[in-house]
Amino acid sequence: MTASIDHTHAPDLRSWVESANHPDTDFPIQNLPYGVFCSPGNATARIGVAIGDQVLDLAACEDAGLLEGVAAATACTRPVLNELMALQASDRTALRHRLVELLGEGVADEARAQVEGALLPGADVEMLLPAEIGDYTDFYASVHHATNVGSMMRPDNPLLPNYKYVVIGYHGRASSVVVSGTQVKRPSGQRKAVDADAPEFGPSRLLDYELEVGMFVGPGNTLGEPVTMADAEDHLFGLCLVNDWSARDVQVWEYQPLGPFLGKSFTTSVSPWVITLDALAPFRCPAYARPDGDPQPLAHLDSDDNRARGGIELTLEVWIQSQRMRDEGFEPVRLSRGSFSDLYWTVAQMIAHHTSNGCNLRPGDLLASGTVSGADKGSRGCLLELSWRGTEPIELPTGEELKFLQDGDELIMGGFCERDGFARVGFGECRGIILPAS
Ligand code: CA
Repeated sequence: MTASIDHTHAPDLRSWVESANHPDTDFPIQNLPYGVFCSPGNATARIGVAIGDQVLDLAACEDAGLLEGVAAATACTRPVLNELMALQASDRTALRHRLVELLGEGVADEARAQVEGALLPGADVEMLLPAEIGDYTDFYASVHHATNVGSMMRPDNPLLPNYKYVVIGYHGRASSVVVSGTQVKRPSGQRKAVDADAPEFGPSRLLDYELEVGMFVGPGNTLGEPVTMADAEDHLFGLCLVNDWSARDVQVWEYQPLGPFLGKSFTTSVSPWVITLDALAPFRCPAYARPDGDPQPLAHLDSDDNRARGGIELTLEVWIQSQRMRDEGFEPVRLSRGSFSDLYWTVAQMIAHHTSNGCNLRPGDLLASGTVSGADKGSRGCLLELSWRGTEPIELPTGEELKFLQDGDELIMGGFCERDGFARVGFGECRGIILPAS
């Protein structure tokens, strides 16, 4: 079941936290994403909720008795979100309702004073990884990305025949997932020039980013028990932004026959705030409309509900600022703008497919969508596609030619949902700056 719309989505709902009522904020009272933070005065990792430019400390709320009677209260005092993610969707919705009461304009003066004591300016806190990530799986759900990349690798056979049946993915490396703002060291690896007899080892020359959407698993499933399409979204806690940094020269040499490995596993960045499925309820849309001639999904990956509202209308953007742009005072420039609704497969289909062999997902596992690219050139989600493998460089305001990432480049990803009649819900940012290879 997809989450439903209730009073917490009303567009006229306002918070007494004034910055949460600004039309451009990513974090109005209708959003309430979860993250993990520490602060200069208190190095303990604790769970927070973003509200306007403030962060609400949930452990402090529980200490003050503000979460009394809420089933999720104990989980709110942990140093990571895993226990909160493991709760049933109804318990998470009940917590959301309590937070809306506490942060809404109608709250009683006494409770408001207590909540004020648990608020910290967002600028003063350090965000940490939101969960202990046991496993990380990266999908390949954009048919446009798969076709573009395939046509560079295999011009005669760009899209392999399994693509429209199987939700393609690979198992990524959980240990190297880092939170936004962590610096990214250029990896070294084996790379082989097309006309060379043998590879050499050295710093990647074709470093790239991939714009993706991350999905944090909620309640897990028992080993051997697949999750059906009807139940799939009950196993999903929320979404974030993911940058799947990619060393293309390493990747192209190593990927056959077993798929991506060291070209991907050096670093993956995630945005710190996890946007709940509850917050995204107003922005659901039909699953990708398959063109005539494409097969329909097999029955275990199909449902009426998924066809009607399995998609999410989420706009995604990528910005870059090179070292020289910073030095010369240029603001970051936008490289692309795409939509999560352009993906061939939905979040429910990713979960149903992942578990269809009985594989168990656990709370806090991270699934990523694969590069989000649309049909238009301006919506391509990585440099490999945008610069067409370096043959169509992008000109930066300094006159620099961008083909792949240079040391000192900073990548900034953002995302937001907008729909008439609802408050805008934003994802915050996923940032990373490239350091030289060691
Ligand atoms: Ca990827």
